[in-house]
Amino acid sequence: TIQAALERAEQQRHLNALISLNPQAGAQAQEVAARLAAGEHLPLAGVPVVIKDNMNLRGTHTTCGSRMLAEYVSPYTATAVARLQSAGAIVIGKANMDEFAMGSSTETSAFGPTLNPWDTGRVPGGTSGGSAAVVAAGIVPISLGSDTGGSVRQPAAFTGVYGFKPTYGRVSRYGLVAHASSLDQIGPFARSAADLALVMNVIAGHDPLDATSLNAPLNFLAPEAPRPLRVGVIRESLQGNTPGVQAVLSSTLAALESVGATISEVSLPSTEYAVAAYYLISTPEASSNLARYDGMVYGLRAPGNDVGASMSAARAQGFGEEVKRRILMGTYALSSGYYDAYYSKAMRVRQLIAQDFARAFEQFDVLLTPTSPFPAFRFGERSGDPLAMYAADVDTVAISLAGVPALSLPMGFEEIEGKRLPVGIQLIAPALADERLLAVAVLLE
Ligand code: GLN
Repeated sequence: TIQAALERAEQQRHLNALISLNPQAGAQAQEVAARLAAGEHLPLAGVPVVIKDNMNLRGTHTTCGSRMLAEYVSPYTATAVARLQSAGAIVIGKANMDEFAMGSSTETSAFGPTLNPWDTGRVPGGTSGGSAAVVAAGIVPISLGSDTGGSVRQPAAFTGVYGFKPTYGRVSRYGLVAHASSLDQIGPFARSAADLALVMNVIAGHDPLDATSLNAPLNFLAPEAPRPLRVGVIRESLQGNTPGVQAVLSSTLAALESVGATISEVSLPSTEYAVAAYYLISTPEASSNLARYDGMVYGLRAPGNDVGASMSAARAQGFGEEVKRRILMGTYALSSGYYDAYYSKAMRVRQLIAQDFARAFEQFDVLLTPTSPFPAFRFGERSGDPLAMYAADVDTVAISLAGVPALSLPMGFEEIEGKRLPVGIQLIAPALADERLLAVAVLLE
């Protein structure tokens, strides 16, 4: 029940996984009860859920983990969230996140970091660290995050839960605060592939309010795995993994073989440039998207002697260091004289990466990599070094650039300093073959 979920949230308060609770949760639970009593069929009746704090829920705060939006109240509800609610789910709260979904550890939140339930000295991953932690800690069975370059998959891996990044366009972005619009996708966290399928069946599908929303049939409730299943292990992801990640990768491949899959290595040579291309594409988009936070229409209002002074004070005080760094990087990459060398070059690399994936999918039904080369790292271990933090995305960003779907599955543990830390394995499918990933995940459960 909702009450029990709220009590669990209270018990786990030290994790700092939630930025706010939904004051309307009780009333909404009563509405759902009334709809059930009236004979409505509700696939998620009364299921408590948490949404990342970059998704609008009418009448509640949407902070994006930023001082800039600390006082912002949503005037409407995001499509994905509205669909959860019409299926009977009750949003109990909004999850902590890296500021404006920029980071890989939830350490850039203006509301303090979220702790990893497996080892509170370590990060839960990011940027959807709060959404991952609430499912890992058993507060709710389902949550929503958003994934621009790995922000659902990597925290799922760090906290030992399932996390899914759908094909770009499969889930509406209406009501999701934009980070990098050509990459952003909402995706669910859950403790089983079956639960992910249930959520996807509710939230996916065409939405006229999002111009990039796809209109394609959905079949999440009866997905089938291809037989025989041809699995391609991406060669470029075999380097630089910790021994524990390498061991979990081997045991996952053995498990796939035992259910009849054929496994070979495949090279996607352009993925070597994925991290560089990702940051040269996402930061220009972010710098454009974040231009609206000027303290006038949106955002923190700061005093100043004139409009310009007030706007720059609002941005100086409202944004944290990482957000400012990205705005500067993005503006630079777009500026006259540098556009061809950086942004336009990165766009061409994006095409090459998409072609690498298309070629690999001529031979394989799914591709496989670790979700991250290492398990959860310690607080402060990477936060002082932006490039070390960006390197945490090495296994996830190429997929985002290609727009294809990917799923992180909890497949084992690595013991570090006496603590068992979860390890995630990532499965990747061609565009619109989202259902296939869930079917393969079921084979591995
Ligand atoms: N870590 C990546 C970034 O900081 C991905 C973030 C995300 O997926 N929102 O941009």
